[in-house]
Amino acid sequence: MERDYDVIVVGSGAAGLSAAVSAADEGASVLIVEAGTRVGGSSRLSGGHFYAAGTSVQQQQGVQDSADAMFEHYMTLNQWLVEPSVVRKYCDLSAPTFEWLTGLGVEFKPEGLYRSGVGSTPRGHQPTGEGEQVVNVLDAHRQQRGVDIVLDARVDGLLTDDDGAICGIRIGEDQATAGAVVLATGGFGANPEMLEELYPQAAANGDWSWYIGTEHAQGDGLKLGQAAGAAIDGRDRGLLLVTPGFSRDLETLLPGWLIVVNEDGRRFCNEMAPYTVLAGLIKHQGGKVYAVFDEGARAAAKPNPASQAYWVNEVLERKADQGIITRADSLDALAAEVGINAGALKNTIEHYNVDCETGEDSMFFKPAATGMRPIVSPPFYAAEVRPAIICWTGTGLRINADTEVIGVDAKPIPGLYAAGETVGSLHGDRYIGGGGSYGPCVVFGKVAGANAALASKGN
Ligand SMILES: Cc1cc2nc3c(=O)[nH]c(=O)nc-3n(C[C@H](O)[C@H](O)[C@H](O)COP(=O)(O)OP(=O)(O)OC[C@H]3O[C@@H](n4cnc5c(N)ncnc54)[C@H](O)[C@@H]3O)c2cc1C
Repeated sequence: MERDYDVIVVGSGAAGLSAAVSAADEGASVLIVEAGTRVGGSSRLSGGHFYAAGTSVQQQQGVQDSADAMFEHYMTLNQWLVEPSVVRKYCDLSAPTFEWLTGLGVEFKPEGLYRSGVGSTPRGHQPTGEGEQVVNVLDAHRQQRGVDIVLDARVDGLLTDDDGAICGIRIGEDQATAGAVVLATGGFGANPEMLEELYPQAAANGDWSWYIGTEHAQGDGLKLGQAAGAAIDGRDRGLLLVTPGFSRDLETLLPGWLIVVNEDGRRFCNEMAPYTVLAGLIKHQGGKVYAVFDEGARAAAKPNPASQAYWVNEVLERKADQGIITRADSLDALAAEVGINAGALKNTIEHYNVDCETGEDSMFFKPAATGMRPIVSPPFYAAEVRPAIICWTGTGLRINADTEVIGVDAKPIPGLYAAGETVGSLHGDRYIGGGGSYGPCVVFGKVAGANAALASKGN
């Protein structure tokens, strides 16, 4: 059959661009359709960190690591409640795909290698020019390979042939045909209805919730896939960061000089616990949680590069004046005003103050060097914090390790592939660490492009 392209890729983020470049490398003619007016989606806005094991950068830094070790860590952290074959593929291909990306021209700073999650092995790789650099390098290769792109065009349907195979896309009245289609439309962080349905933890925070990525993260890939019979994997998964909700600024860590307590008046974590686990800990409290500190801490909270909008003395003063933070002359009054168990709060603080003196957090092992300070000088403050900054969504299309989209009948849908944040099969309740979204986007984007190109030859 005559067709317009061998492969059509929907979306031009890290996943879509990787798919397009690898499909072209397999000799396919490729079209990218992109809803935005420029290439890159959330991938361009992103840090672009890449979680990988066994890379040349790790070797340079003297880090011994392997795909086996990464797989064991990933699966254990997620209690095997993710698709093992898909995770295995990611682990196996993380290093070769990382090297592919560096071969294309993306630079990763060796000194930027870091422990990006809760594991002991540094696997977070930072590109020198963040996600923007990755997108620009991939887009330059797309152009070199003659891959066509249409911008400002939102795909709203898939074409199906008489045998039920996907054979193209629709944009309103227009359509384009292909031997295979790769869905790489990103997540649904910008779609409140889908958050409500598929990520209730994120939606539960009402006005406090905001998504840090592109407005085009509307979950179109899930909808297009579902209309073609695809199954959805996972629920209530993604990454949320904790915020006092003063403004829409991205901040990943709470300061060490405050404590966080639940309604029972108890601390429940090292307040500087990795952002990958803090939101989950808060969820388990089952009620509101508050950052508590005293006047001495507030006055000493100086602006710093990592915190301009939240934990800064003038900001905190202003928010207290506005009644957004509760301020009281005694801990009893503070507890009464926000509805915390007062006796327990005072005991918690008494214990914490002793720990500050000895320089050791005997309950949660927060390092003293993070600025632990006793809570002694009135007035006292309580700022509610919520896991409300949505970084990415982890529920999505079910795929197999070859990135074929799997139908509700448990069979691959012929001609349909998916990669990137639109995919759900490898994200569990615990984020593996910084780079755990971008890494799989590139890995599975590359796999999807190559497999779509091969399938297209056979169609
Ligand atoms: C500020 C920020 C920092 C981040 N930092 C990191 C990090 O350091 N490490 C990490 O692992 N993750 C990080 N993430 C998450 C990660 O960047 C994303 O999960 C990832 O980039 C998603 O890539 P993608 O290709 O799947 O989607 P995107 O990059 O969002 O690309 C999808 C594209 O599809 C287009 N599209 C959507 N619907 C349609 C349609 N119907 N028709 C045509 N086109 C459509 C969109 O316009 C978009 O351009 C961060 C995210 C943000 C926003």
